[in-house]
Amino acid sequence: MRPVVWVPREIHADAVADLETWADVRRGWGVGAATEDVVAPVAEGVLLRTARLDAPQLKRMPRLRVVARHGVGTDTVDTAYARERGIRVTTTPEANVLSVAEHAVALLMAVRRGIGAAATGTASRDDLIGGELSGSTLGLIGFGRIARRVARIGQGGFGMRVLAHDPGLSDDEVRAGGAQPLPLDVLLSEADAVSVHVPLVPTTRGLLGAEQFRRMPSHAIVINTSRGGVVDEYALAEALDAGEVGGAGLDVSEIEPMPDDHPLRGRANVVVTPHIGGQTREAMRRVAMEAAAALRSELAS
Ligand code: NAD
Repeated sequence: MRPVVWVPREIHADAVADLETWADVRRGWGVGAATEDVVAPVAEGVLLRTARLDAPQLKRMPRLRVVARHGVGTDTVDTAYARERGIRVTTTPEANVLSVAEHAVALLMAVRRGIGAAATGTASRDDLIGGELSGSTLGLIGFGRIARRVARIGQGGFGMRVLAHDPGLSDDEVRAGGAQPLPLDVLLSEADAVSVHVPLVPTTRGLLGAEQFRRMPSHAIVINTSRGGVVDEYALAEALDAGEVGGAGLDVSEIEPMPDDHPLRGRANVVVTPHIGGQTREAMRRVAMEAAAALRSELAS
């Protein structure tokens, strides 16, 4: 008998087609959508996009063996309870690396060239004198999957000098990724642009704050595509007001979407996007395909 796989929210059609080759797929959308009440008692796998699976929901799924997250975070699943029950929880950490890295570079280019201000159509041409990325210095904080890709684009595309700070890696590992390892303070004082690529954990909350902005050259640009909370937004607004940093490109913020009356809104030298770094057709297909593959490797015999 084919295992029952519950897909509560719409995912890429190619992944549904892939699942249908080996599983009894019950979808939560479209014609013939199945409700959770009907599926919970029989589901062996769930492909979880935005829904929550806390202990009460998991308890209603006695046959569940795998929760495949469509994305990277597992904060929407009670992982402690899942572990107790022997339910595997998988994620898709590789799927949107290229998209997020490209978005970080897009933000950097947008801020350096004043594209945000120019696109409003109201700024004067004389006020829109940008800078080149070519030959400038890029500082990466966190040198994991996304940052390495940013490093490759920066070096290959713009001949940038790339610096990186990542206490989780040895200097040799950083060099092997094509960057020069440096302590955070030194990196901040040397970089023309700083891009943050760390997880949000207690040790990275407020990693860039007033003290760090003061160390940067006054023309430096701050890019954050990681998580709101890693950059202290109020300190950033003050540093921009004081001319301590030159601009910012933010895909993430403490409150999403960033409120209209936020002090970082409405500035010519700040570009804000609503957490769209991983949101490309290619990445969304890849995320769904990887989640489907995780279910298959666990459930298909
Ligand atoms: P990764 O796990 O591959 O790399 C993170 C790196 O950060 C690790 O090498 C780790 O050692 C390092 N690190 C941890 N604490 C640090 C500290 N205090 N200082 C410096 N480095 C530190 O992660 P990734 O896949 O490259 O993702 C990076 C970030 O991007 C994550 O926050 C992730 O949630 C975020 N993300 C955002 C989007 C988006 O849509 N904007 C999409 C996917 C991922």
